[in-house]
Amino acid sequence: MSEAMGEWRRSKYCGQVTADDEGSTVILMGWCQKRRDHGNLIFIDLRDREGMVQIAFNPDRSGQAHQAAESVRSEYVIAVKGVVSKRPAGTENPRLQTGLVEVLADEVLILNPSKTPPFAIESVTDADESVRLRYRYLDLRREPMLQSIRLRHKVTKAVRDHLDANGFLEIETPVLGKSTPEGARDFLVPSRLNPGFFYGLPQSPQLYKQLLMVSGMERYFQIARCFRDEDLRADRQPEFTQIDMEMSFVGVEQVIDIMEGMIAAIFAAAGRDLPELPFPRISYDDAMARYGNDKPDVRFDMELCDISDIAAGSDFKVFRDAVASGGQVKGICAPGTAGYSRREVDELREMAAIYGARGLAHISIENGEFKSPIAKFLKTDDLQAIATRLGAGEGDMMLFVADKPSVTAASLSHLRLQLGRRLGLLDEHKDAFIWVVDFPMFEWDEREKRLTAIHHPFTSPRDEDLAMLETDSLKVKALAYDIVLNGVELGGGSIRIHRRDVQQRIFDLMGMSVEESRDKFGFLLDAFEYGTPPHGGIALGLDRLIMLLSGQDSIRDCIAFPKTQSGSCLMTDAPSGVYGDQLKELYLKSLA
Ligand code: ASP
Repeated sequence: MSEAMGEWRRSKYCGQVTADDEGSTVILMGWCQKRRDHGNLIFIDLRDREGMVQIAFNPDRSGQAHQAAESVRSEYVIAVKGVVSKRPAGTENPRLQTGLVEVLADEVLILNPSKTPPFAIESVTDADESVRLRYRYLDLRREPMLQSIRLRHKVTKAVRDHLDANGFLEIETPVLGKSTPEGARDFLVPSRLNPGFFYGLPQSPQLYKQLLMVSGMERYFQIARCFRDEDLRADRQPEFTQIDMEMSFVGVEQVIDIMEGMIAAIFAAAGRDLPELPFPRISYDDAMARYGNDKPDVRFDMELCDISDIAAGSDFKVFRDAVASGGQVKGICAPGTAGYSRREVDELREMAAIYGARGLAHISIENGEFKSPIAKFLKTDDLQAIATRLGAGEGDMMLFVADKPSVTAASLSHLRLQLGRRLGLLDEHKDAFIWVVDFPMFEWDEREKRLTAIHHPFTSPRDEDLAMLETDSLKVKALAYDIVLNGVELGGGSIRIHRRDVQQRIFDLMGMSVEESRDKFGFLLDAFEYGTPPHGGIALGLDRLIMLLSGQDSIRDCIAFPKTQSGSCLMTDAPSGVYGDQLKELYLKSLA
């Protein structure tokens, strides 16, 4: 038995052996998926990256190979030299890509044995995710994992090809940068050479890519690693990848054009049908009004309808009071749910309550009649008008929330998505892209009592809104756009501010003193004084895109070595304590 490959060279991948190879000698290398010992005959399913093929070991053909095969166990790495042969009639395996053939082994090398793996390397596994993450290198051997890694490669290649063809240069920007927290928390790296000073890991290459436009690079892109030290909600990673780009001398339309072309290239690479181009657009205000959400899932309707005007004149105090105090009454129609039990309606009420709704009114239409505890407070004409507005008919139930706009939006949006799924209105096989445009520039941060930028402070307000920047800040719209697929925000970007005076006004409005803005962003403001071209860009989350394209449920399944929800790597045990004088050298002391 040998563990050395010597002059052996792989001639083919296992998964690529076909009936056309019949009669030829092949050398295959891979892992033992399964060994079946029929006494005289031994079969091994040999697996590599491209698939699996059956190897038959017959002692009459080769005593050496048969004997070696006896000792092979799951996940042993072996090399086999043999002749491709059609399987005897009746023994073909239609479930296997190579199922018409087998390889009759003449020689075998056992390249490396394997311990019994902690879980079987099968497409479907019931292994706990923590075990899969601890043995990630084994988990990656499983077919679905391999597929998503392969898809990721195909997608990034399509992106590179498409952007190259459109005049983009791929340029790397630093990972060790200046900490400029704005939004999320930065990861910090202490500088040994500059005691007491820290680098920040980039939350995105935003400022560098803008500076590259100042440099005259015209069109930049990068498949960029970004870092955000946030509490990890489901499907967030502390480090993640963005397809990041920036262009000079462009407006919103050109960025959208490039992006749509790139998405078409990505879908083609993924072998998936692309919905029609151009993608529809919706303004932020419209998205909030109709879906209660700035990343609407437009695979189904069930839109939110405002009935505040009717509610204000009703005898139902909750409705009247909500409108009188500046709130609204909005509703959705859940088709075919008039027969819901009280328990089912209560369940919906609890769902709405998660988003702050203090109540959920409901009106059903059964046998041509309006059935509801609140029906008596509403005139028949009004009930009819409400039903017409919501598009409700026989057998439907209408659900209403009366509250401040943020609460009606969030709670009804959640109900809409839950019901859409539950009632089978949401076609899981459909892809629905939509651009959300005309975002407000600012929102009011109640906690910090100041304006914050909805996208980021480098986003340009619309030219026509510049005059009211200071006087009517919350009405100012930004030249920002988000791209949404099936209710998931895939990415976003904006046309940027390229004038120093406008940038300074935005910083001022956000309550950033001149000193603070100089300290944090002085380099950018300086650069803006040396002929900065108008520019804009966008970034697309790669991990999430792969998740949607591969049909995986978790972003972790689209990253080769992901972190857990608590930011650790179960395989390497990062983050970990440090050795010896490491902290001292960095002038640090641990308080933990
Ligand atoms: N840098 C932005 C982000 O990370 C995207 C952009 O404006 O291009 O969300």
